Amino acid sequence: MKVKTLDGSEIELKQEILDGLKTKLKGPLLTPLDVGFEESRNIWNSMIDRKPALIVRCLGTADVIACVQFARDYGLLICIKGGGHNIAGLAIADGALMLDMSLMRGVWVDPQRRIAHAQAGCIIADVDRETQLHNLATVLGFISLTGIAGLTLGGGFGYLTRRWGWTSDNVTAMDVVTTDAQLVHASIDENPDLFWGLRGGGGNFGVVTTIDYKLYPVGREIIGGVVAWHASEAQKVLELYRTLTSQAPPELTLVAMMRLAPPAPWLPEKLHRKPIIALLACYSGKPDEGEKIVAPIKTFGNPIGDILIRRPYTQMQSLLDATQPKGRRNYWKSEYLPNIEPDLCENIITHAASVPSPHSAVALFQIEGALNNLSKEHSPVGNRDAHYVLNIIGSWEQAGDDRQNINWVRETWDDLKSFSTGGNYINFQTEDEGQGRIDAALGKGLQRLAEVKAKWDPENMLRMNRNIKPA
Ligand SMILES: Cc1cc2nc3c(=O)[nH]c(=O)nc-3n(C[C@H](O)[C@H](O)[C@H](O)COP(=O)(O)OP(=O)(O)OC[C@H]3O[C@@H](n4cnc5c(N)ncnc54)[C@H](O)[C@@H]3O)c2cc1C
Repeated sequence: MKVKTLDGSEIELKQEILDGLKTKLKGPLLTPLDVGFEESRNIWNSMIDRKPALIVRCLGTADVIACVQFARDYGLLICIKGGGHNIAGLAIADGALMLDMSLMRGVWVDPQRRIAHAQAGCIIADVDRETQLHNLATVLGFISLTGIAGLTLGGGFGYLTRRWGWTSDNVTAMDVVTTDAQLVHASIDENPDLFWGLRGGGGNFGVVTTIDYKLYPVGREIIGGVVAWHASEAQKVLELYRTLTSQAPPELTLVAMMRLAPPAPWLPEKLHRKPIIALLACYSGKPDEGEKIVAPIKTFGNPIGDILIRRPYTQMQSLLDATQPKGRRNYWKSEYLPNIEPDLCENIITHAASVPSPHSAVALFQIEGALNNLSKEHSPVGNRDAHYVLNIIGSWEQAGDDRQNINWVRETWDDLKSFSTGGNYINFQTEDEGQGRIDAALGKGLQRLAEVKAKWDPENMLRMNRNIKPA
């Protein structure tokens, strides 16, 4: 079996060497001929089609240590797959030894201390499911199938961000296998430099095996859902969005989205695939108050569909899942915004009118609140001046349509990027975004991250990420 090494060459690993690795593992070691290999290497964005040489489906920390030690012994390139949702396909590298963490999905909740202890292979739904048993939740993302590890290591935002900050602001500890195959604990008291770097610096410093999150009282019922209007009302609805988000209490998160109507049963069939604007709302405080606060949305203009109701928090967390299935072709551009300018709204309406795919969208996520109150140095996620996330979402099915869809995203971005804070979300960067975009995303924190990298991964063994070169 030929496996890629860190210097870019290949090494032939004989069967007896692979058998030796197998004796150290509890989880399966897969080669391209084995059942399960294809499923494990496939990720959410089907534009990425890379093939590792070997995959270990890790079943615990000891498996991770065995893999890292093996990679060290033979100088192998490794990559780590959590939920496989990274749009740039950072989980997969051609010819590498891949650590597939997706079987490590245990979650333990301590309701007294209000901490969730989650294995790094969890998806968001795994954590919400367990924490909601205690009417608790932490800050996670909008699609419940996303991996917690990649999301948290790059920052993370969702419906609770306005109340409690980036996901990574709510991490209290991580267990990490370092590149010299040692298990260490990272928290504010133990290895604080590593702990700082992990809360925004991505998977650059070690293989994370568990993450501890702070929990807060949420749900189980919240007010949440979507109201949609025909795109002819977009200008007025975006104006409403501007007004509401400027006054919204932190319990309310609003997302505005322009796209073609999906074939959802709550939207009239004759409007499927027609241009719409939708406001997605989640009020995570007391439902009685939430009902009053979202009332102006439900009575505004002439809605074509309304599913903004009292519902379980976990249902809200998975409400958009069907719109983002694994296996489509995807290309995004994203920016942080300081505010919503009328000119920005005009531009969004213009570009949304020429969207080439029924799965694509332009979305605005309000994130302003708790994250703005922490110091710039608190964690490398930085961007403490960001109030909204703009995401131009290109999503389509056929490779033959790549050019048209990518062009639409790029042209839209060209006209919208001047409204940016100058920062962008590292977890939304596509494969073709280079060092300039990493610099813009991480800003002044980069120098300190390079120092943390030099201490914890001086040989840059972990390079399948938004890579930080050791100082
Ligand atoms: C449909 C969709 C919806 C999304 N919604 C949101 C959202 O609401 N909010 C938000 O903040 N982000 C969101 N994202 C972006 C998301 O945060 C990133 O794509 C993130 O990288 C996904 O994490 P993952 O574990 O699934 O990724 P993977 O592709 O598995 O991994 C991403 C990176 O993390 C590294 N990594 C994974 N596990 C480990 C580990 N255990 N130790 C060290 N490194 C590791 C990988 O090596 C890789 O570099 C969304 C993405 C998609 C595709």
